[in-house]
Amino acid sequence: MKKIGLIGGMSYESTATYYNEINRKVNNKLGGLNSAEILLSSVNFEEIELCQHENRWDDAGEILARHAKILELGGADFILICTNTMHKVYEMVRASVKIPVIHIADATLKALKECSVDKVGLFGTIYTMKEAFYKDKLSDGGVEVLLPSEDEMKFVNEVIFNELCFGKISATSRYKFLDIISNLASRGAKGVILGCTEIGLLIDQSSTDVKLFDTTFIHIDEAVNLALG
Ligand code: GLU
Repeated sequence: MKKIGLIGGMSYESTATYYNEINRKVNNKLGGLNSAEILLSSVNFEEIELCQHENRWDDAGEILARHAKILELGGADFILICTNTMHKVYEMVRASVKIPVIHIADATLKALKECSVDKVGLFGTIYTMKEAFYKDKLSDGGVEVLLPSEDEMKFVNEVIFNELCFGKISATSRYKFLDIISNLASRGAKGVILGCTEIGLLIDQSSTDVKLFDTTFIHIDEAVNLALG
């Protein structure tokens, strides 16, 4: 079994999902008391969020690159950055180590292709929804991306940073998220990407008929498949 390196803490709520679900899936596949070999290097998210807020992405990239090196030195075979947003500095992280860094949007694109989805709604932080680093991966792969309205994007971003990153689950936010998902579907989206690793804490496939692509679980599946070869 390969050793999985996780750069976590963005937020710690979703890193807990990565840790638990990777272990659960490895156990399901191998049975007995088998569990995953995982190395976790977790950041102080306050520092990262400040870099995002102050547009100091290179500083954030240096922090994540430092964590990637710790994982490589610790013997990880490959790395996951456990957040969509911080893939904005993916190249800095990738260039800092010799082991592969599994891009969450590449894994998501693969999942979309497997389901023949060529038009998709995107949910995530304001950075993930508005900036090119994420959307371009999808559109370069032939998938058209639809975004929520400006007001909806602002709402989604606030819920992520003010509620979900603290593990706060609100019925009102869940209702509003489902509403935004239906709006995207009515504009022609054949599925919606939950492009933030905390959104799965609030909604899952059982909440809606619209096909959801939860990036946390897609990333986890990719890691487990790689780890077990
Ligand atoms: N976990 C979130 C994501 O997947 C947001 C936290 C962050 O800004 O990294 O984008």
